Amino acid sequence: MADIIQLLPDHVANQIAAGEVVQRPASVVKELLENAIDAGASTIKLIIKDAGKTLIQVIDDGKGMSITDARLSFERHATSKIRNAEDLFQLHTKGFRGEALASIAAIAHVELKTKQERDDVGTAIVIEGSNVASQDVVVTPKGTSVSVKNLFYNIPARRNFLKSNAVELRHIIDEFHRVALAHCDISFALYNNGSEAFNLPVSNYRQRIVNIFGNKTNEKLVPVEEDTEVLKISGFVGKPEYAKKTRGEQYFFVNNRFIKSAYLNHAIASAFDGLLKSGTHASYFLNLTVDPQTIDINIHPTKTEIKFDDEHTLYALLRSAVKHSLGQFNIAPVLDFERDSSLDTPYNLSDKQTNVPTIEIDRSFNPFKDDAEPVKTKSYSSGNTFKKEPATNWESLYVGLESKSNDAVETDFSEVHFESEETTGSIFEDGKEVEKTNTTYQLHNKYIVSTIKSGMLLIDQHRAHQRILYEDFLKNMTIKEAMSQQLLFPLQLHFSVQEIQILQQLKEDLEHTGFVFSNVLEESVEITGVPVSVPESEVSIILEQLISDVENEVPDAHFSATDLLAKSMAKSLAIKTGQSLQKDEQEHLVNKLFACKEPNVTPTNKTTFITMSVDELDKKFI
Ligand code: ADP
Ligand code: MG
Repeated sequence: MADIIQLLPDHVANQIAAGEVVQRPASVVKELLENAIDAGASTIKLIIKDAGKTLIQVIDDGKGMSITDARLSFERHATSKIRNAEDLFQLHTKGFRGEALASIAAIAHVELKTKQERDDVGTAIVIEGSNVASQDVVVTPKGTSVSVKNLFYNIPARRNFLKSNAVELRHIIDEFHRVALAHCDISFALYNNGSEAFNLPVSNYRQRIVNIFGNKTNEKLVPVEEDTEVLKISGFVGKPEYAKKTRGEQYFFVNNRFIKSAYLNHAIASAFDGLLKSGTHASYFLNLTVDPQTIDINIHPTKTEIKFDDEHTLYALLRSAVKHSLGQFNIAPVLDFERDSSLDTPYNLSDKQTNVPTIEIDRSFNPFKDDAEPVKTKSYSSGNTFKKEPATNWESLYVGLESKSNDAVETDFSEVHFESEETTGSIFEDGKEVEKTNTTYQLHNKYIVSTIKSGMLLIDQHRAHQRILYEDFLKNMTIKEAMSQQLLFPLQLHFSVQEIQILQQLKEDLEHTGFVFSNVLEESVEITGVPVSVPESEVSIILEQLISDVENEVPDAHFSATDLLAKSMAKSLAIKTGQSLQKDEQEHLVNKLFACKEPNVTPTNKTTFITMSVDELDKKFI
C-alpha cells in the first residue's frame, strides 16, 4: 500500500495551533497586550469593535521591530524571548512560545505597523489567513500597532460558536483588568465601539484597583504584605463585610502574571474562615513574587495555570499573611464586638425590658497572660472582664437570655433574618382559595410529600418554586404588566462600572418585572420600585446574582436576556431548602407547580419532583 502520511501545510498547522491559543476575542486581547508589555511599552491602548468580532487593536509605545523581525514575528515558534530550553526556567517575559502572532494570523486579517526608535520609517505588513498580502514602508510613531480584524473569518464553526457581544466583551474586559492590575507602572486605555471605557494612568496598586473597580472600592481594601525568603506577598484583600456573591474580584498574580489556582484560593478562603456569610466570596488582589526557577508556567497553552515547586509552603504563608492582615486591621473582631452593638444584637435589645443575662466570669482569666491567640476583651458595666468566646460561638452569649425570654423578645427573635434562609416572596400572593389537594407533608424542610392516584409524589420545594416563579416572571416580562411596589425611600446600590453596563442592558427587562430605576449613574443605581414578590432586603442580592449569571452565561441556554433574568430571579427568590412551610403553603406550591407549563423540571432542567407508584412501593416490601 502506498505511503499515506503527509506533512500538513503551514497554514493548516497554524490553524490547528490557533485553536489552542485563540478560543475567543479575549484570547487575542491577552496575547497582544502581553506582547506590548514584553516590548517595554509605557502606554498601551486597546481598541475594540463589536466585542472584538470586528476589530481588536493594540497600540503600544514599546521598542518596536526591525523589518526582518516584523516579518519573522508571524512565523510559528518565532520568538525573541528564549533561545534554549534552560531559558524556560528564567522567564521574565509574558510570552515565550512564539506562537501567538502566527496563530492569530492564521484565523484573522492582521495588520501590523511597527517602528523602532532609531529608525526614521517603520514597516506595515498585512496578513490574511497566514499569507502576506502586502508589506510597505510607513510613517508611524515608535512602537507597534497590531489590528486583528474579522476573527475566525475562515473558520465559520468557530465564529458561530462565539457568544453574544455582551459575553465576549465581558471576557475582554476581564483580560484587560488582569493585565492592567499586574502592571500599574504602565498606563492603559480601553476604547469600546468608539468610546473610552477605561483610562488607567500610571499609579500605585491601590489606586489602580480603585480606577478599575470604582471609588467605593477604596474603603474595602485591607493591605497584605509579607516578605519571606521563598515568597513575597503584596496586595489587598477585601473586608469580609463586602464579600460578594460572585467570585468576580479574585486575582492572583505570580511574578506579574495572572494565574488561576484553586489551591491558593482555598488558602485565602480558609484565612477568612468564620468571617464570611455563607455563599459569599472574599475579594483579593494579591501579587506573589517567587524565584522563576521554582515555577513552571509551561503547563497550559494560555499560561493561566502554573506549577509551583512547593505549593504547601505557599499555601501556609499565604493563609497566615492574610489572617495576619485581617487581624491587624481589626477585621476579625468587627463581626462580633467592635461595632455598635445594636447593629449586631439579633433583636432590639435597647427597646426591650429584658432580664440581664447571666454572664459567666472566668476569674482565673489573666489578661496579661500571654495566650497563643490574643483574646479580645470587653469590660461590662460591673467592671468585670469577661473572656470572649471564640467567634463561632457568639450566639452562646445570648443563650441565657433566650431561655429566659418573655414573649416580646421571642417575637423579635423570630424576626431575625439569617442570610438567605429568610422567607422570600410568599407563594400566596393572589390569595385565591386553594383547590383542595390530597394531604401534604413536609419532609426535612426540603421535600413535600403528597399522594396521587397511582402512588406517591415527592417534590423538591426549592426547585419547584423556581419553576413557578420562572414562569411567572417570563409571563410578566412578555406582557409587560408586572406589578411594582413603590419603595418608601429610594434604594441606592453601588456597582462597578462594568456591572452597571450589564444592568443597563437588562434595564428594560428588569422594568418589565416591576423594577423602577429612577437614576442610573456611572457606579450606582437608584431604585424606587421593586417587583411585588421581591423583598427590599433581597434586591441587591438578586441584582448581584443576575450580573454574575450574565457574566457566566448559563451554558446550556441560548443567550436571551429575558430568559436569563427570569431564571436568575427565580433562583434568588425561590423558597429555600430548610424553610418550613405551612400546610396551605405546601398545598399551594403543589397546585401552582402543576399549573406550570413544564412542571417536571426547573428552568435549568433539574428534576422538580419524582413519583413512586404503589407497585414500586409494594416491591420494596417483598
Ligand atoms: P512570543 O511573545 O511568545 O515571543 P508572539 O508570537 O506573541 O510570541 O510574538 C513573536 C515575537 O514578535 C516576539 O517574540 C517579539 O519579538 C515580537 N513582537 C510581538 N509583538 C510585539 C510588539 N508589540 N512589540 C515588539 N515586538 C513584538
Ligand atoms: Mg506573545
